Amino acid sequence: MKTGWMKRATIQRMTSCLFFCVFVFAGASSSEAQESSFGGDPRVELTNNTTPTWSEAIDAFQQLADRFQDVGFIEVGQSDVGRPIHAFVFSPNASSIRNLDGLRSHRNSSANRLCMLVNNAIHPGEPCGVDASIAWMREVLADRKIKNRYLDEMDVVIIPMYNVGGALNRNCCSRTNQNGPEYYGFRGNSRNLDLNRDFIKMDSQNSVAFVDLFHAVKPDVFVDTHTTNGADYPYRMTLITTQVDKAGPVIGSFLRDVYEPMLFDRMKQNGEAIIPYVNLRNEIPENGIVGFLETPRYSTGYTTLFSTLGFTAEAHMLKPFPERVEATRLLLQEMGRLSLDLADEIKQVRNEEKKRLSSAGALPTRWELKEADSKPLYFEGYAARRELSPITKSTRLRYDRQEIWKDSIAYWNAYAVKYEVVLPEFYCIPQAWRQVVERLALNGIQMTALPNDTVWPLRVDYIETFDSSSKPYEGHHMNRTDSIRAVVESVQLFAGDWIIPSAQDGIRFLAETLDPRAHDSYFTWNFFDSALQQKEHYSSYVFEETAYELLQNDADLSVNFEKQKKLYPAEMKEPQAQLNWLYMNSPHFEGTVNRYPVFRSLTDRSTIQ
Ligand SMILES: [Zn+2]
Repeated sequence: MKTGWMKRATIQRMTSCLFFCVFVFAGASSSEAQESSFGGDPRVELTNNTTPTWSEAIDAFQQLADRFQDVGFIEVGQSDVGRPIHAFVFSPNASSIRNLDGLRSHRNSSANRLCMLVNNAIHPGEPCGVDASIAWMREVLADRKIKNRYLDEMDVVIIPMYNVGGALNRNCCSRTNQNGPEYYGFRGNSRNLDLNRDFIKMDSQNSVAFVDLFHAVKPDVFVDTHTTNGADYPYRMTLITTQVDKAGPVIGSFLRDVYEPMLFDRMKQNGEAIIPYVNLRNEIPENGIVGFLETPRYSTGYTTLFSTLGFTAEAHMLKPFPERVEATRLLLQEMGRLSLDLADEIKQVRNEEKKRLSSAGALPTRWELKEADSKPLYFEGYAARRELSPITKSTRLRYDRQEIWKDSIAYWNAYAVKYEVVLPEFYCIPQAWRQVVERLALNGIQMTALPNDTVWPLRVDYIETFDSSSKPYEGHHMNRTDSIRAVVESVQLFAGDWIIPSAQDGIRFLAETLDPRAHDSYFTWNFFDSALQQKEHYSSYVFEETAYELLQNDADLSVNFEKQKKLYPAEMKEPQAQLNWLYMNSPHFEGTVNRYPVFRSLTDRSTIQ
């Protein structure tokens, strides 16, 4: 079936290109039409069931940069497919910005200005943000008053198409349940990675480019544009605000009590009522919805690690594409305006959050839903019908759009801390774990290399039990542990191993990537798997003599061995189990199996502050 749609897509793509070329040629006499294939009036393109190809999108943004002094358009890095990832920059005199270093110094020289970063087409099959961003920026740039407000207070940076490889893999049909556009890109990138799971493990070049851009512009507000999967209901737009309990008491409260209610209210006043993302509890909205916990593998989970206000726009898949584009455009417009209106509050909240993080003695690293804690949420839904399926001859679900119900549904969006980690004064990572060290460095983590070999007493964690997935997920066999034993040991370190102070801006990133129990730690993403294997063993027939001698010469060992057999008769019943116990309690056992190779100082951060 896949080959089928790929072939059809190729033929239809050629037809589409023919139409596109004719359109540009026919409109070439008009200066507006020369801007792009979609004309100068954003409303015109909103009637089309089409979305730009990668090069058409790049052209549309480039042409805005060619026209306006305050618009820059640069390459920020490479994608896995070998083509660049771009950023559109709307900021005073942005046309002089030539590259990412230029953007970084431009932002540093105006650090008091807010920045809103918009990411589009991370899932290129959900491209409404691409069209919406073009339409939004055309409108802003055409309106002198609003344009000047942005130029006074807030930079806008837009990634036109983040998943370039996926965007180039254009087809008609891979979004099976989606209502248009006619052609669009594919979800996986050119390595078949879902880039919206890649922000911590950074398998893709795309993620490296994103992280570079993110730290260069340090956005205050971040929006990632998507299209839903799941239930049918009347709302055209839904929103994931980064989970407020996970965001913490400062940013979370501001999002929950100020920003989100104001945004929802303004969208409603614009005739576009929106609703939190409909993450179903059980099949249909009547059974309630659950706040999405976007852990750091997701874009907004990642941006929350750096105190950015993160949002995921999810336009409804069954609404016609032009309507999804319009709803997304309106959301971007209102988020831009609201962020301008709340500029001082946003700056203050982010400063308070920095203070909170800099004085925290411990930070949470894992959360879980409070099952007993739901609130009523006003919802308008389509009636759910049960009908006989002519295909399966069993009951199927159908939403009846003729019957709209209005009621309160349960909304679970309270998360409790499951684990937190006491922050050490510093972490130690041997240089051997260079893939982790590289990712920390890309995220601006400050590290110092040890000048000499040394032996230090440090806190060492042993992973007592863990589960690993039997099948790969996004290129990794993931681990999960809930069982860690911390001990103090003398640890041999070598010149060049890394000392990482916890007194730094990236502390939340460190806490949530280095605590092995965290949702998206590097342990979870299996970067430390080789620490989980015993390297030396023994042959029983040889060890029999060794074990006999050990028991003869070590009275304590002999007593403990007898105790062990009495206490755990079932476990110690087999001869192999007995020999193994003796081996593990002898000097022959290497002892470092399951020793987690990120060590912590004996001093805590709170005790040295
Ligand atoms: Zn998506």
